[in-house]
Amino acid sequence: MRSRPEANSATGDAPWVLRGGRLFTPGRDPAVADLVVAGGTIAALAPPGTVDLPDVVDADGLDVLPGAIDLHVHFRDPGQTHKETVETGTAAAACGGTTLVCDMPSTQPQVVTAERYRDKRRSWTGRAAVDFALWAGGTDPAELAAMAAEGAIGVKVYMATSPGFEQLYSPDRETVRRVLAVSGRLGWAVSVHAGDQAASDAHRDRLIRAGRRDPAAVLEVNRGPGNLSGLRIVLDLAAELGGRVHLAHLSAYGEAALELFLRARAAHPGLTAESCFPALSEEEDLPRQGVDVLPTVFAAPVRQRLLRALADGGIDAVATDHAPHTRREKDPGRTDAWAAPAGYPAVETSLPLAYDAVLRGLWPPRRFADAVAAAPARILGLPGKGGLRVGADADLVLADPASTWLVDQARLHSKVGWSPFHGRRLHGRLRTTYVRGRPVAHDGEILDPGTGRFVGRPGPHDRDDEAGG
Ligand SMILES: [Zn+2]
Repeated sequence: MRSRPEANSATGDAPWVLRGGRLFTPGRDPAVADLVVAGGTIAALAPPGTVDLPDVVDADGLDVLPGAIDLHVHFRDPGQTHKETVETGTAAAACGGTTLVCDMPSTQPQVVTAERYRDKRRSWTGRAAVDFALWAGGTDPAELAAMAAEGAIGVKVYMATSPGFEQLYSPDRETVRRVLAVSGRLGWAVSVHAGDQAASDAHRDRLIRAGRRDPAAVLEVNRGPGNLSGLRIVLDLAAELGGRVHLAHLSAYGEAALELFLRARAAHPGLTAESCFPALSEEEDLPRQGVDVLPTVFAAPVRQRLLRALADGGIDAVATDHAPHTRREKDPGRTDAWAAPAGYPAVETSLPLAYDAVLRGLWPPRRFADAVAAAPARILGLPGKGGLRVGADADLVLADPASTWLVDQARLHSKVGWSPFHGRRLHGRLRTTYVRGRPVAHDGEILDPGTGRFVGRPGPHDRDDEAGG
């Protein structure tokens, strides 16, 4: 019998059993079971202690979580590898229990053609510690179809833009409508960054003229009329066209946006949304950390409202919008909040924060497995991912619910080396992360770099560069 996870042969071929762990599955209370892995997938679930195999990992007293699927990360590779790389970003994901990351097309060059899509996919192959999917971008219907054929998981629609990413921009309602219409025909996922760039810019300029350079002013614009009117446009178009539309980082738009979305989805079930796991507070973290925590920092009642929406399924999925900006890029925001880019590194702390909330009784375990894994898999249309069920990939995390630990930014894996959660004490320490049955990270160390695979829609891409583990 082998009990150390890294000693497990787990090459994806020989069957082995994870014995006696407490499994987290959607819609159920956690229950102790044996989980058999064969050929990289979950081959059986059985009552505890009933499976007899030579290769055993003892999970007695431990929790077995589904590996998280992060719908929304920015690993900035290629183009801005001073912020993050495939290696550092996926190492952070692996050590934080995320087994599939979906990278946005806002890399450089921007991913707006099939050729660029193929180049990015090939450049990631053989370097990722966890599985990866890549979003397409842009507005050209022919290129969108060609990127879908290359395996793009879906398209990201940007109704707002920033310097260097203009090719991804859908500047008006008609462009957004065209991309949504093409996407309906392609049947792929659509993730929308809602907004109205001109209205938000005008709002910002008014605040600057009034002398506002504080972080609260930036939040005021994020939650202001520009983004709300952009959101209304998307919700109207989704209802009109009838397809599936996913709202990226809904929490960043504030409470009014959440209520607007919830009313719309009651009438149109094709709508879905993601939120960060809400764990930063306007009362404590904003005064202490300033722009570092923008834009997803909340007053206590809003944090509670977001948690409730994540608990009752009003918000489908937890996604990080992992935005690794360096200290040098963030620091000018200390004197002028407009000078700092938005976002913070989050992929390594997301699942731990959600698990901590479950263990402290703040979030129901029955919804946890859905929000972090099953719902993202549904949104992407990936039946083989997203949960602890027979036939699915054995993407899972062994965690110790009895131990607590301190988030230490010096020990995290993002290239930028800082975290807004530095110093937090969390319940539930992640032990081992498995991707397709293979242990890839253990106690914060990467075991097996470069074995993550590309996850795409079925298509011609299946033939060529699937190597890498
Ligand atoms: Zn983003």
